[in-house]
Amino acid sequence: MRPTGRLHLGHLVGALENWVSLQDEYQNYHLIADYHALTTNPDTRGLYENSIELLIDWLAAGLDPARSPMFRQSQIKEHAELHLIFSMLITTARLERNPSLKEQVRDLELNSVVYGHLGYPVLQAADILLYKGDLVPVGEDQIPHVEISREIARRFNSQYAEVFPEPAGKVSKFPRLPGLDGKKMSKSLGNAILLSDGPDEVWARMRTAVTDPLKVRRNDPGRPDICLVFSYHQKFNPGELTEIRAGCESGSLGCVDCKKRCADRISETTAPLRERRAYFEQRRDAVKEILADGERRARGVAQSTMLEVHSAMALG
Ligand code: SF4
Repeated sequence: MRPTGRLHLGHLVGALENWVSLQDEYQNYHLIADYHALTTNPDTRGLYENSIELLIDWLAAGLDPARSPMFRQSQIKEHAELHLIFSMLITTARLERNPSLKEQVRDLELNSVVYGHLGYPVLQAADILLYKGDLVPVGEDQIPHVEISREIARRFNSQYAEVFPEPAGKVSKFPRLPGLDGKKMSKSLGNAILLSDGPDEVWARMRTAVTDPLKVRRNDPGRPDICLVFSYHQKFNPGELTEIRAGCESGSLGCVDCKKRCADRISETTAPLRERRAYFEQRRDAVKEILADGERRARGVAQSTMLEVHSAMALG
């Protein structure tokens, strides 16, 4: 995950809940992708603080650092080295066909693409394969990247020796949660509810959510299946779905009341996370130590993989 500061509901639904459930079953590694952040913005001011904020949200969501190392990409030099080796095993034409790159260029309105941005699925392959990851929890849009990692692993294994597994993507069960305006949820677009938002902030943000445009007056019948707020109810308020659908369709439930109920359920869901966040915010030195410890453990694994890589390539 890129260190863009505090996380929002989209991160919780699309990634964190999935990661928390996976930690009982697998050995997990959680990477703070600070080098990746540079592909679209070279400004490093605030990167460290944003990494700490991200880590606090991970811990607040229930990730367990004792079981799963949490670390910054930039602090494990082996990521850069394996990236370089992998970059010899894939063509620029293949990377230019990557659909997520085209989407990012369009969404971020970029006039040009830096070399590192074109190659970021290669760095991602290094991120995964350094730890011999065989399962990568991702959003639907990241599946093409996992495919590139698989191709690179195959290529390396056939060119040198069998070192890497072919990783598979594991898509989160709940589809991506859209932002309050219906676009992709993003803090910078101002359409996100943050995990750290208290009840008043959640309500203030929820008030701005788009609804069925044909339900203009309170008593107009609405169409929950095309309403963004209803998709939030599906996630955060499953017990009241039948009643809300009936109220919306008959016109007995107004959008303001419906949004208020949704905001209340969201605040209830995130209350334990906010409590844990407050705990870690008071203990920032301990959070920094968690990061340092994760980096030590991840580095050990990465160094051992690189010994295998060097041996397979007969380098030194
Ligand atoms: S009542 Fe609720 S579900 Fe129906 S349109 Fe309004 S906000 Fe959406």
